Amino acid sequence: MRCSFALLISLSVTLSAQTSRLSVGTATVVSGEKSTGFLQVPAGSDPGTDIPVVVLKGSKPGPTLALVSGAHGTEYASIIALENVIQNIDPHDVSGMLIVVPVVNLASFEKKVPHVNPVDGKSMNRFYPGNPNGSQTERALWLITKEVVDKCDYLIDLHGGDLDESLRPYSYWSKTGDERLDAASRGMVLAFGLDHIIVVTDRPKDAKASRYLDSTASTRGKPAIAVEAGYAGTTEPDDVQALVDGCFNVMRFLKMFPGKATPIEHPVWISKVSSITSDAAGIFYPSVERGNYVAEGMKLGYVTDLFGKTVWEAHAPTAGIVLYVCSVPTMNKGDNVANIGQVASEP
Ligand SMILES: [Zn+2]
Repeated sequence: MRCSFALLISLSVTLSAQTSRLSVGTATVVSGEKSTGFLQVPAGSDPGTDIPVVVLKGSKPGPTLALVSGAHGTEYASIIALENVIQNIDPHDVSGMLIVVPVVNLASFEKKVPHVNPVDGKSMNRFYPGNPNGSQTERALWLITKEVVDKCDYLIDLHGGDLDESLRPYSYWSKTGDERLDAASRGMVLAFGLDHIIVVTDRPKDAKASRYLDSTASTRGKPAIAVEAGYAGTTEPDDVQALVDGCFNVMRFLKMFPGKATPIEHPVWISKVSSITSDAAGIFYPSVERGNYVAEGMKLGYVTDLFGKTVWEAHAPTAGIVLYVCSVPTMNKGDNVANIGQVASEP
């Protein structure tokens, strides 16, 4: 059979687009495929770990979006949301590529330990960009920086209320001062659709000391947001669905998925977050619920000793919305009691 030169060229271009691989950790795909593998964190001063990763290459070209959850392995709603995305997304519907890491902190997930990686006692969202010679958390974050952040164009870091946090959903939009980045991340956070958005202006600007995952992306020129839904170990359908819908809506905003993005039109912008920490150890009794609006000075809860005597009261340092309040009776001196968000008139 005779082939025209133009047809040959077009065939070879198509073939090279289809055969060019996306590899992340041990997972590798060509166009139209979804594949699973691991980010293999080698052993060092403490044991290594294998972090699961899913890569998906759509049938059509487009950007690469990274979806990451489980830095805190008991923020279950965010983990279940990404499991849902993994199960329900078809590469033939996607323009571009997805890198999905549903459980960064496997030891936390397996041992049901909140906030930190129980192997080394470190938060897996405070030590970016990581260190190849550090403890397990630092080695894992180093690998995520190299394999996930460096290989994506956009990133969403999913969190939620931890086992001891009764949290109402919200997202973070970091204003970096870079107009291109900020316009893109603002579009992403509005498309994600959570109706309360914290505007952050004090994140690290140094890529070598980025601390957080979203800052690791933005200090490398990649628009990123962080989102939170779910509380106290629950996987309520509303919370999980809000996170799933948010991921798909951002994909629509980035023209990676069919359909029109429907951004939130009038979110509650939050300009400042006040953290209240306990002055006393004992038993915590909350007086407010997540999502309540409080006046300055209003009682948020109190702490008794183990004999029932009140030893400390928590009061709101400012008027605002209860973003989260401690959901368990255990209270240590210095533990977080609540976060209050101050509502801003505009971002
Ligand atoms: Zn978290």
